[in-house]
Amino acid sequence: MLQYLIILLDETSTSFCHYENANQERKLMPLDVLKEGVRFGMMENLMIQFVYPDYELPQAYQEVVESIDHSKIKPYGQEDADVLIVNGFQKVKADVPVVLRITKQELFVHQEEIAVMLGDVPRLNVVLTDVEAFAEADFETYKKVLAGLSSEVEKLYVDGKSPQLNLLTDRMMLSQMNNCGAGDTSITLAPNGKFYVCPAFYYENEADSIGDLEHGLGIKNKQLYKLEYAPICRHCDAWQCKRCVWLNCKTTLEVNTPSHEQCVVAHLERNASRELLRSIRQHGTFLPEREEIKEIDYLDPFDKRDTWQ
Ligand code: SF4
Repeated sequence: MLQYLIILLDETSTSFCHYENANQERKLMPLDVLKEGVRFGMMENLMIQFVYPDYELPQAYQEVVESIDHSKIKPYGQEDADVLIVNGFQKVKADVPVVLRITKQELFVHQEEIAVMLGDVPRLNVVLTDVEAFAEADFETYKKVLAGLSSEVEKLYVDGKSPQLNLLTDRMMLSQMNNCGAGDTSITLAPNGKFYVCPAFYYENEADSIGDLEHGLGIKNKQLYKLEYAPICRHCDAWQCKRCVWLNCKTTLEVNTPSHEQCVVAHLERNASRELLRSIRQHGTFLPEREEIKEIDYLDPFDKRDTWQ
């Protein structure tokens, strides 16, 4: 069921996920489109997430934004955000959750500084912008980096703090799949007044829309965005995985089929979360309602397809 409407306020609205937005030329969504988008969100009872560019909106836009329940996704450095986005590695402090969009190499190089940042933000979401470029050697490095970050997270927990790092702490807290939901629980409204599965589809190919404000939504084969119709993912317990349908399309040409790289990265995180949960529990009761995360002998569920029922 649709729950979220993401509204890109400008052609230069910040990316908050795997995709890049290379647009440099400012072009606001027309005010009447914004008003219609907000109306659509209201009629459909959707939670609206506004995605901001790196400049202040005119007063008339701010008034429309404030006319409905919403959250604000803004580039780092702006005031009054619910989520701040940092593009490329830099050290930040904030009192709201931060999304750090970096490459694998930036993560590997800045691992220690990222560990320090965990004490300076309420939540850190690391988004790797080149998951599809992981090679075998990178998987090994990623495993070590996750183990290093885990030790820091464990120390913070022992000190009585509650750091949140999506790569490690999300899986421990989950009891079922918690994926991105693009095309299923969320859709995006672009500045041109058309709907897209997510911002990535818009920035990659404007012709790839799934409807517009005038005629409503028309998602072709919409069942394919649902977990039940994802033949590999529905057998998986890397519940923190984004299950990015845009990356799926890009790497396998199928909305519901992930790449090997996406799966291995998610399983390395899952397994690191398993170890972290066990380590924290050695210091006392922790998340007693959560079961242990099982030990598994694979990193890509596709390799176990013979055992699926
Ligand atoms: S790890 Fe792979 S199979 Fe599991 S949810 Fe993610 S993309 Fe799907």
